Amino acid sequence: MNRLLLLATGGTIAGCAADSATSNYYTAGVLGGDALLAAVPQLQDLATISVEQIANVDSADLLFAHWRALVGRIRDAFAADPELAGVVITHGTNTLEETAWLLQLLIDDPRPVVLVGAMRPATALSADGPLNLLHAVQVALSHEARGHGVLVVMDGQVHAAQRVTKLATQGVGAFASPDSGPLGWVDDVGIHLTSVSGPRQVPFAYFDLPEQWPEVPIVYGCVDPEPLLLSTCLTSRVAGLVFTGTGAGQLSVGECRVLEAWAGPRPLMLRANRCGSGPVHRHAEDERLGLLPAGSLNPQKARVLLLLAVLAGWDRNQLDALITASP
Ligand code: ASP
Repeated sequence: MNRLLLLATGGTIAGCAADSATSNYYTAGVLGGDALLAAVPQLQDLATISVEQIANVDSADLLFAHWRALVGRIRDAFAADPELAGVVITHGTNTLEETAWLLQLLIDDPRPVVLVGAMRPATALSADGPLNLLHAVQVALSHEARGHGVLVVMDGQVHAAQRVTKLATQGVGAFASPDSGPLGWVDDVGIHLTSVSGPRQVPFAYFDLPEQWPEVPIVYGCVDPEPLLLSTCLTSRVAGLVFTGTGAGQLSVGECRVLEAWAGPRPLMLRANRCGSGPVHRHAEDERLGLLPAGSLNPQKARVLLLLAVLAGWDRNQLDALITASP
C-alpha cells in the first residue's frame, strides 16, 4: 500500500456552519485532518495516510511560524521515508497560493506536494472539500505528478504553484492559472497533465527558515495615491517592499519622487502589477529607483520570494537573476 502524509492546516475545507444551506457564514478550521479523511472512505483503498495537524486556522491567520513548521515537517518526512509517495496539505483557499509558492521555492524533491482546499465548508450541501481531497490524494500518488513541483488541486484542475491564483470570492471554480491555464485535470479516470511545467528551480532548497522574519509590506497603486505610505515604509526601514503598480506595474510621479528623494539604504523592492495577469517587464527607470520587475509573479507571490531573498541575505543581482530565469 502506498504511504502518504496529510498535513492539515485548517481553512474552509475544515470549516463548519450552523446549517447546511450556509456557505458564507461559518467558522474555518474546526474539523481536524482525521475528520476530513473519514469523510472520504474511498481514500482507504488508495493509500495508508498518516495525518498531522500543523494548525487549524483560517488561512488569513497563518503565521510565519506555521510556514516554518510545514517546511520542516515536509523535508523531514521525505528524508526519513524513501517510500513516502507524497504529501497532501489541506489549507484555506485565501492564502493557499502563497503557501504553495513558498514550498515550491524550498522543497527539493520530485515527489508530489499537493495543496487542496474548498470553497464551501464541510457542513454545506454539495461541499466541495471531500471530492477535492480525493483528487488531491490521487494526484499526490500519481507517477504523472512527479517532478512537477508543488501543485494545487481544486475543482478537478491541477495547477502549478507559480501560476495559480484565487480569482473569485465565490464558487467552487475560484482558482485559475491566468497566463498559462492549468497543468491539467484529475477525474475518476485518472490524472491528465496536458501542459508541462517549466524547468524547476529550488533556489532555497538548503535554506533553513529562522524564527524571526523581516517586514516586507505590499503597497498598492491607485488614482491620487498617498505617497506617505511609501515614505513611511522607507523611513521605518522595511527589509523589502513589493509595489503593486497600475497597468504593467507603473508608479505615479509622486511615488517615483519619494523613491528618488530617499537618501537612506534602499530595501530590496519588487514592482508587481494589479491586473491579475501578464508580466511586469524591466523599465529604464528601475535601476535608478532601486526597483526590480516581478516578472510573472503576482504581488503576494512576489512578497513570498522577497521574504526568502531577504532572509537568505540576497542582493539585487541575485534576485534579478532568479526572476529573469523564471519561465
Ligand atoms: N477564509 C477561508 C480560509 O482561507 C477561506 C477558504 O478556505 O476558502 O481559510
